Amino acid sequence: MFVPLLEGKTVKNRLHIDLAPAPDGDQAAEVRRLEALGARLVDVGQDSGTASWVVMADPPMPDPPMAGTFSAESRLIHAGTDRTPGRPATPPLAPASIYVSAGPPRPGRAYGRDGNPGWEGLEQALGGLEDAEAVAFASGQAASMALMLALAPGRERIVLPNDGYYGGRVLADRLRPHGAVPVPVDLQDLAAVEREVTAAPSVLWAETPTNPLLLVADLARLGALAAAAGAPMVVDNTVATGLLQRPLEAGATASLYSLTKSVSGHSDVILGAVVSRDAELLAALRAWRSSGGGIPGPFEAWLALRGLKTLPLRIARQSHSALAVARHLAGHPRVAAVHYPGIDASTSELAGRQMPDGFGPLLSFEVTPGNAEAADTVVASSRLILPATSFGGVESTWERRARWPGETAPTGLIRLSVGVEPVADLITDLDHALGVL
Ligand code: PLP
Repeated sequence: MFVPLLEGKTVKNRLHIDLAPAPDGDQAAEVRRLEALGARLVDVGQDSGTASWVVMADPPMPDPPMAGTFSAESRLIHAGTDRTPGRPATPPLAPASIYVSAGPPRPGRAYGRDGNPGWEGLEQALGGLEDAEAVAFASGQAASMALMLALAPGRERIVLPNDGYYGGRVLADRLRPHGAVPVPVDLQDLAAVEREVTAAPSVLWAETPTNPLLLVADLARLGALAAAAGAPMVVDNTVATGLLQRPLEAGATASLYSLTKSVSGHSDVILGAVVSRDAELLAALRAWRSSGGGIPGPFEAWLALRGLKTLPLRIARQSHSALAVARHLAGHPRVAAVHYPGIDASTSELAGRQMPDGFGPLLSFEVTPGNAEAADTVVASSRLILPATSFGGVESTWERRARWPGETAPTGLIRLSVGVEPVADLITDLDHALGVL
């Protein structure tokens, strides 16, 4: 679909603008003038010996609702909505491997590996959550890999939490033959973190709350010591999301997301993203995405944008229910330990300051006896909570986390993702499943 943006003759959705042949040097200025008017040029020059320029314009990305005037929630709900009379209000789904293109390739609109209007709508909405820009990837891991590669030059060490998402550690380990040196550290031990990031040029790869132990790290203090060491800080913000926690404000260079979790929210998408305000890093990430090929599918991006619009509603309810479930489990005779930022005495003050609007859907707990068999029996005994991995979906899910090779969680630890079911139903199901022990 093309819209005429300038005076001229429209033929088959192409706008032909007659211009006098420009003297040398003026053509570039004319291109800039047309681009400033909103036209996107796909073919510039004398067309078949005539003096007309062929200009093809597609509708510009709708402006997002203004930051500063409207809340993050309102901006998400209206993200990607086209307000032009007669147009579909919903963002288009644009499956495209190629674009109509001749002459010098237009950035992002010549081949589908370089750009898609669907990703761009999602990126606009997601970036808005942290007042930054987003680059979407095929998965959280594809986003992590691009980020590790983009930050690698001049820095060999990746200082990362010894209790965070195990996939991050596995990935850093796989990059060892390519020069990466993963350095596991306890993010609660600030002296140890400082020692490691100052020992050699490093990237500080933080995660808070962690998956699956829900440990809370002090982002402001980590950000300050990373800055003093000249180490970029990455924060895996998957568990909290930008609605509950804003790492860039604490000095992080980048927020990392598995969009597979709460952002998409319906357990039907694998997708990831990096959010940053660092123009050089954003450009490097886009370059890695294009050349490495870890691109989001247009349909997945469309689903994720749709999910994102209800994130504020879902996460508020899930945070509220997860806190109620954590408190209930903490008083249960079959439960030996509960891990949730809101009830962990050692970090609840920090968690309240860092995540004032809630702690998200994820918690974990250990049953008595703390062996694999007891935990497996509990997980298999639910009638509502779904035995499955991942988190952040509308349906509650749980699993014994140590069933995954490479995971370092305690053997009997059950990770529970609280969905949007009424909390009374969840407690009924939990009591039934724990009662089997
Ligand atoms: N970061 C965290 C905290 C995760 O839990 C996960 C996946 O479970 C990832 C990153 C990787 O995301 P994906 O599965 O979308 O590749």
